[in-house]
Amino acid sequence: MDYGKRLSTYLGARSTATGVPGLVEMSRPAHAERVLLFAHPVGGSLLALQPLVRRLLDHRCVGLEASLEVLVDGEPAPSMQELARRYVASFGDRCPDIDVVCGWSFGGGLAWEIGCLLARRGVRPKVVLLDSTWPFRAYKEPRPSEQLQEFVGDALRSGGQNGEWLVDSPAAAAEALGMDMETFSERFEIFVHNSRIIGTWSPTPGDLDIVSIRATQSSRSDWREMTTGDVDFQELPGGHYDLLNGPENLAAIEKIIRYGLPAAGTVAETGTGTGTGTDDGNAAPDLFASLAELTDTARWRDLVIRSRRMDGKAIAEAYRELGRRGLLTPDWPREFGGSGTSTRVSVELFERFIATGLPDLVYALTVQIVGYFVLKSGSDRLKRELLPRISRGEEFATVLYSEPGAGSDLAALRTRAERRGDRYVVNGVKVFSIYSDISGSALVAARTGADGNKYDGITLFVVDLAAPGVTVELVDTIQPERMCRVTLRDVEVESWRRIGADGRGWGLLDGALAIERTGIDHVVRAARWLTALRTATGRPDDLPLLEGQVECATTVARAATEVFLRPDVAATDTAVAKLYTSETCQQVGHEVLRRWRTLADRTDLDELVREELYSGLTESPGLTLSAGSSEIMLSTIKVDLGEEYSRRCRDIPRRFGAELVDTLVEVLEPVGAGVRAQPLFASSPTRRTALAETLAELGFDRVERPEDEGGLGLGLTAGCAITLSLGYLGYENAYRPGPTGSGEDRVRHAAYVLGLGVGLFRTAWEYASGREQFGRRLVDLDALMFPLVRSYAEMYAVGTRLHEIANTATQPDQGALRRFELVQQDAMVRLVRAAMQVMGARGITEWSVASRFYMRCAENIGLLDPLSGEEKC
Ligand SMILES: Cc1cc2nc3c(=O)[nH]c(=O)nc-3n(C[C@H](O)[C@H](O)[C@H](O)COP(=O)(O)OP(=O)(O)OC[C@H]3O[C@@H](n4cnc5c(N)ncnc54)[C@H](O)[C@@H]3O)c2cc1C
Repeated sequence: MDYGKRLSTYLGARSTATGVPGLVEMSRPAHAERVLLFAHPVGGSLLALQPLVRRLLDHRCVGLEASLEVLVDGEPAPSMQELARRYVASFGDRCPDIDVVCGWSFGGGLAWEIGCLLARRGVRPKVVLLDSTWPFRAYKEPRPSEQLQEFVGDALRSGGQNGEWLVDSPAAAAEALGMDMETFSERFEIFVHNSRIIGTWSPTPGDLDIVSIRATQSSRSDWREMTTGDVDFQELPGGHYDLLNGPENLAAIEKIIRYGLPAAGTVAETGTGTGTGTDDGNAAPDLFASLAELTDTARWRDLVIRSRRMDGKAIAEAYRELGRRGLLTPDWPREFGGSGTSTRVSVELFERFIATGLPDLVYALTVQIVGYFVLKSGSDRLKRELLPRISRGEEFATVLYSEPGAGSDLAALRTRAERRGDRYVVNGVKVFSIYSDISGSALVAARTGADGNKYDGITLFVVDLAAPGVTVELVDTIQPERMCRVTLRDVEVESWRRIGADGRGWGLLDGALAIERTGIDHVVRAARWLTALRTATGRPDDLPLLEGQVECATTVARAATEVFLRPDVAATDTAVAKLYTSETCQQVGHEVLRRWRTLADRTDLDELVREELYSGLTESPGLTLSAGSSEIMLSTIKVDLGEEYSRRCRDIPRRFGAELVDTLVEVLEPVGAGVRAQPLFASSPTRRTALAETLAELGFDRVERPEDEGGLGLGLTAGCAITLSLGYLGYENAYRPGPTGSGEDRVRHAAYVLGLGVGLFRTAWEYASGREQFGRRLVDLDALMFPLVRSYAEMYAVGTRLHEIANTATQPDQGALRRFELVQQDAMVRLVRAAMQVMGARGITEWSVASRFYMRCAENIGLLDPLSGEEKC
């Protein structure tokens, strides 16, 4: 059996472990917003779709790979409809909730039929058809020699090759395709069968929405004949096989799958479209243009400067202008003032207008914390009354949780709400509330139940701050942002203003706090402070480590905004984001603190630069307190790690390729695949060579190799999954498919070092779970474990950023890579220290796993930063 097939078998066997024949997991991130199903083309292999899937790895991508088992199943499926029926039937009740079903060529036909069947089950995916059409004339079976020719041509063109191939025998065809005869015979049989099916296919009429993406040099079909749903057309340059083979076309298809078609790019019947995207890489060009038009003006700068000085009128005017242009909540449903974009577009707009210097907490409180929470959990009336006003920028909202006696221990709150008929009467005192003086509404936590378990009987309300009985007093603080103390005396609140059921607020707070903890507001602030620092020092490249850390935090925060609205969002995920972003951004503030003595005396600084530096100085202490302090985040993460540290550790490498990592760990850990006899940690050229040979024998050397060179073309991310797994298991980095020291090799090496870090973390956690001193397990001692938990958050962040670097760049950006390496090296040193401390004296004995990880880290961390002597940070 050839290596590639062996690997496919491993992967296939694991992929179908769910028991669904042919259904392959192509990407399974920890939190995917949507599920995309890709149907195979006529040749039955999903390889042609891999380049597209690689662009969509933040979604869960599943694919249907043809197998004779499904196709023939007793007797050959006589039609496309029957083939689709067999696939859908095999899903059984394990059918994922599919959002998009997509296919190229024959695969589009299959995707359509599958979509129609799913619709009957109540799942209504969007159907994306890539140059798919149905036959316009009667089918005539080609002669075997023609079929052979067509098969070879189709397979090679699908892989991006051009030309004519003359093959006169199956053996010659197999050789041209680099297949063994067994694989060739199976693939050819599938091709012949599928060609017959598509040749005689007439689509089932349906009612799903379709996006039909056509190649300009290909035949036309009008899908409006087949569906009563909406049909959007898009044309992309080239022929049938060019659709999936050029970066521009792939980028356009990716955008369409992510965001749908932009209005301006939708092609009318005549089919004269000019492309799909915008420079912003999203489907909302008008919104970005409108924002640029607004912020590139002297009036906006004036509004920003006045807003920074806490001029309430200026803040109100700025937000009303953003609201009037639909820039505050474009991802909300239209009925509440949105325009139906993705949350990603909304976050990108937010990042841009906050980058101009506008105070961000007004937005964070109003839109992000209160708005999204009401959207997710509020009553219909509350949504109707509040959300459109927020969307138009006419109303601000704030949060009233904290009380004089209830800070971190929020459940100790004493504000009471008593039910009287169709309303509640609220009494209590709330403190440290930001912007209550200019807000119209506030999210209030109050006690409605009888005293007892302090977590029971808490209810959430949105209170009208103009109601009689509300008194707002300003509290002077060192920071410009306004903090208030709010007294509620016999304030009447209608029951439709309650969120969730009476007394069930504590359960809802998890979701509300997850929304608060993405850290996106921190990272936009930190980026501004950093820019101001660089401007003030006049040395733009002076702070590479800090800059790298803010880049890393930005990736983490953006990822958190992708998941924060999910009902199943885990408290740990946003706690990691909150912890990492707030602590990173605080370090930028500390940099200002360090230099403040000289910065404060500078008279030559631009007004906004001065404002930013002052904010950095005064707002940074609050970052690690508000929305849950760092210690509370560490406790939250620690509880979760205590329950399942092993899965959480494995999730970091799995982000790079779940199937590959599982396969590698499975193959190399327990079975040893011929290397078991060699101690995992032993280093020697002979052992490294033996491990490299084992990997090659298993087919892993084909993972990154391009498809046209006989590889699987899975890209650098998959390569990182391999090195990460090797590090995690404590092996040497024996996977080196390219030249040492190249950008890609450095990325793979960084993944290897990350693997070592996760492996060492796992070792230390495991030890702390078993070891007792003073009658307590080490894992229960916060003083010892918090540094290790913090390092877990750093490993998670480093992994998220590394995945982004490996995933988005064909040639990694040298500057960004270098900054990342500095960040990783810095984080690794802290992790090593925390883990070795947990291990006690056993950790430094030669026979302990920890000491071996330690030495392997020492051998490899230095390589992350080859230029360390040349630059200072
Ligand atoms: C800038 C800013 C904006 C804010 N905005 C709002 C707002 O709009 N609305 C609102 O309701 N509140 C707001 N807060 C209040 C915020 O929620 C509280 O500061 C936070 O809950 C911590 O409470 P505390 O300040 O009373 O500190 P405490 O709870 O008294 O804690 C003091 C210190 O002890 C630590 N600590 C406490 N318990 C433990 C423990 N069990 N283990 C280890 N360490 C512990 C804490 O981490 C902290 O470092 C804001 C705070 C800040 C700084």
